[in-house]
Amino acid sequence: MSLKKHSHRTSARSLPIRLVPPEERTVSQQVVFCDFDGPIVDVSERYYQTYRQGLSAIKQHIQYESGERLTLQPLSKQRFWDMKQNRVADIEIATRSGLPEALFSGFIQHVEKLVNHPNLLQWDSVQPSAYEALKYFNQRGLRVVLVTLRHPRQVDDFLQAQRLTHLIAEVYGAEDVNAAQANRAEQKCTLLERAIAQQTAQGHHTHNSWMIGDTEADITAGKTFNISTAALSCGIRSQDYLHRLSPDRLYSSLLAAAHEVANITALQIA
Ligand SMILES: [Mg+2]
Repeated sequence: MSLKKHSHRTSARSLPIRLVPPEERTVSQQVVFCDFDGPIVDVSERYYQTYRQGLSAIKQHIQYESGERLTLQPLSKQRFWDMKQNRVADIEIATRSGLPEALFSGFIQHVEKLVNHPNLLQWDSVQPSAYEALKYFNQRGLRVVLVTLRHPRQVDDFLQAQRLTHLIAEVYGAEDVNAAQANRAEQKCTLLERAIAQQTAQGHHTHNSWMIGDTEADITAGKTFNISTAALSCGIRSQDYLHRLSPDRLYSSLLAAAHEVANITALQIA
């Protein structure tokens, strides 16, 4: 696979990176669309490190600018992640950490600069059952296509490092990560629409497909294109929050989803 080869062919904001050369593709397969961050990657430590570094950066900045020493009380990782999973606003997380409200915009600027920085990507880890889940999909003849707001190169680096590349058929990622942050649901819909169209054009089956993901953007995208939705609570949203979005199914991990989705799909296409 050549990333360069694909990159120069289009100036579109988002493009699919084909991880399996055409000649290696098998016959038509049933496609399962899956999000990356959450189902496959545990991003909690990166988010927590970003938050901690954002607090340190604003503290240093204020001290440098005015000589004032801020007294901050960073939350524990568990408390921080519980709040993120329940969509507590960033400003509330910041003020509960002792940051004066007037300094929030400065803090969030540091956070946004840091969160996708290569130095912090090292904190990403693979979800415990992701390898087994992806292997299971493949064994059941399902074609796993990733639809993610991450940059395709970051996705590819991670998959290679974790030796997961051979289990993923294709990746549809966002080229402009900042645009994706601005409207995640809309960007996810655009990517999923393109993925469905291109997979269908390649002769694969998308009629009984699923969209598996950990946020409202994944559920909204799946519902928009009338495919089944499976929400996973191992990511950045809690089970209670996801339940309120009424996905077709709600699971604790990608492996739990893989077992049931494969069985349901087998019955549908029998
Ligand atoms: Mg996600």
